[in-house]
Amino acid sequence: MCTLNDKFNTCSCIELEEDKFKDECGVFGIFSKNDLDVVSLTYYGLYALQHRGQESAGIVVSDGKEFKYHKGMGLVSDVFDKKLLESLKGQSAIGHVRYSTAGSSTLNNAQPLIVKYKLGSIAIAHNGNLVNADVIRALLEDAGYIFQTSVDSEVILSLIAREAKKDIGKAVVDAVQAVKGSYAIVILTEDKLIGVRDPNGIRPLCIGELNGDYILCSESCALDSIGADFVRDVAPGEIVIIDKDGIKSINFAEKTKCETCSFEYIYFARPDSTIDGINVYTSRIKAGKILYKENPVEADVVIGVPDSGIPAALGYSEASGIPYAIGFIKNKYVGRTFISPSKELRSKAVAVKLNPLKVNVEGRRVVIVDDSIVRGTTSRKLVEILRRAGAKEVHFRVSSPVVKYPCYFGIDTPCRKDLIGANANMEEIREEIGADSLGYISIDGILKSLDCSAERGYCVGCFSGIYPISAPIEKDKNYLE
Ligand code: SF4
Repeated sequence: MCTLNDKFNTCSCIELEEDKFKDECGVFGIFSKNDLDVVSLTYYGLYALQHRGQESAGIVVSDGKEFKYHKGMGLVSDVFDKKLLESLKGQSAIGHVRYSTAGSSTLNNAQPLIVKYKLGSIAIAHNGNLVNADVIRALLEDAGYIFQTSVDSEVILSLIAREAKKDIGKAVVDAVQAVKGSYAIVILTEDKLIGVRDPNGIRPLCIGELNGDYILCSESCALDSIGADFVRDVAPGEIVIIDKDGIKSINFAEKTKCETCSFEYIYFARPDSTIDGINVYTSRIKAGKILYKENPVEADVVIGVPDSGIPAALGYSEASGIPYAIGFIKNKYVGRTFISPSKELRSKAVAVKLNPLKVNVEGRRVVIVDDSIVRGTTSRKLVEILRRAGAKEVHFRVSSPVVKYPCYFGIDTPCRKDLIGANANMEEIREEIGADSLGYISIDGILKSLDCSAERGYCVGCFSGIYPISAPIEKDKNYLE
């Protein structure tokens, strides 16, 4: 008979990130009338967005007449070198870092995607996921369109390219009105940079300015990295068109409601980013405080799981008065190429990446704060190594609500049978991870930490099963059953 232990003891890998929702993609775009080095700025912008995707990176540049581009598999710093960057010159550029949620991880699927049409070329970089891409793809294929990749972003690109010869702005409006899902997109033509955000604003996209030139990017941290000023977020259902005449805005959706992904604040986004007016770091501190109010415990020390659990641990400490201390030292040099240890070593091997700071936990009642529990495998290992380091008690606190459902909007999530929160109750999860007590922030609590209001909502679909856009029927079958 399968026990809970067997059921969830499937992780054979030491990467902490393996037991998290996976990152998505990051996009960046710049249009310069003032001879800025757009390629270097795009490179640094993508570098700041690297946490959003590490599988591939690419830059397309336009000199006003034609495109040049380079794409490759791996990190931004692996894909581009000085010589390559110098070979790409122009007045406008877009870039992309990718984690594949739709389409396989191959160079062919690396973005930006480029297509030629009668009057020129169009490139696109997309963060998000289209829930009706399969239907549109089938219709276009019936009409004779041949797709070059397996990514859903090509569906938008092909819809735009079909109409682009009339008017590019109108072609983009028509294309995005046909698709459903989450999208933060940057589009490049020879003489324009265009940004689009879906009608629910699920994925972030903001506008910056540098020396009078405009920039579009997924997170404001990318603006800081190149010394640009934040101007504003692209509104849900808005298209911005940037060219030599300045910036123009079009609202393409009748009904829009901001329902940004709450997981951006909990885990995905960098703490130094501000999305839709809410600073990510501040929201994590607030969540930690609410987490304490909802799940108090007597203890000697609060520690956070690096990196995204730390602000919530600070908030928990502040609200409870229990001192905060560093609980783990992270080995900064364990990269993606790290060779996995043998099977026998794997169960102990979290310590290769994360080592407990014994002086802070030995003989103490420890509250450990993490941002989420997905499968539960890493949480169990963390509790184990704290006990091995001499912790007297281990109280696990989680600054996201219980993850019970998958995401359809550009985040790679395991299917429901692998989500511990979908299959076990609180006591069973506590037992499974081996903690003395366990507590999660509530859905109301996380919404409070984000200043949710009647006008300003958030997607909490992976906690509640209620999504801003209905899930595709096929995926319903695969994921929810
Ligand atoms: S389902 Fe979860 S991860 Fe997906 S967009 Fe909504 S809050 Fe974000």
